[in-house]
Amino acid sequence: MAESPFKFCSNCGGNDWIARSVREFQCGPCGHRHFITSIPAAVALVLDAEDRLLVIRRGHEPGLGRLGLPGGVIEPEETAEMAAARETQEEVGIDLPASAFTYLASLNNRYLFQGYEWPTIDLCYVARVPDFSRVVIQPSEVMETLVCALEDVPLEEFAFKSNAEAIRRLRARQTSVRAL
Ligand SMILES: [Zn+2]
Repeated sequence: MAESPFKFCSNCGGNDWIARSVREFQCGPCGHRHFITSIPAAVALVLDAEDRLLVIRRGHEPGLGRLGLPGGVIEPEETAEMAAARETQEEVGIDLPASAFTYLASLNNRYLFQGYEWPTIDLCYVARVPDFSRVVIQPSEVMETLVCALEDVPLEEFAFKSNAEAIRRLRARQTSVRAL
């Protein structure tokens, strides 16, 4: 059976778990049920006028030094678009309203945090800017930014397969748009 990612019961402090499924752990002594649910996260694919993508090099674990996209966990009271806008502003300094982000795809990911690979559902959004002249990186989160033609993004260097897949989806969409 699956191992509980919870160390102690949040209700009674016990640590005797009954795994009811891969995502449900029940406290033996008190019966309190703890669940693993997908954590919603927003991911931003920001393009310039020449269809070049803004890629970040991650400044922290997981995936320190590997490539990524601006993004993060959606906070309470936020929509996914608001989170995409906020994370883009925080990580690379680009100020865009939530309405600038249009939906691309939802993709599953696993995010290692405090010893457990939490499932996330990455909601991916596309936004456009004229150019990347206003990029200001947040050094605690981002080592550097790269600007890549969509076809040339080195997908194998990404920390998360879900980010690479989002870029593949965007490539496919741009190709079909150009074919019209
Ligand atoms: Zn308990």
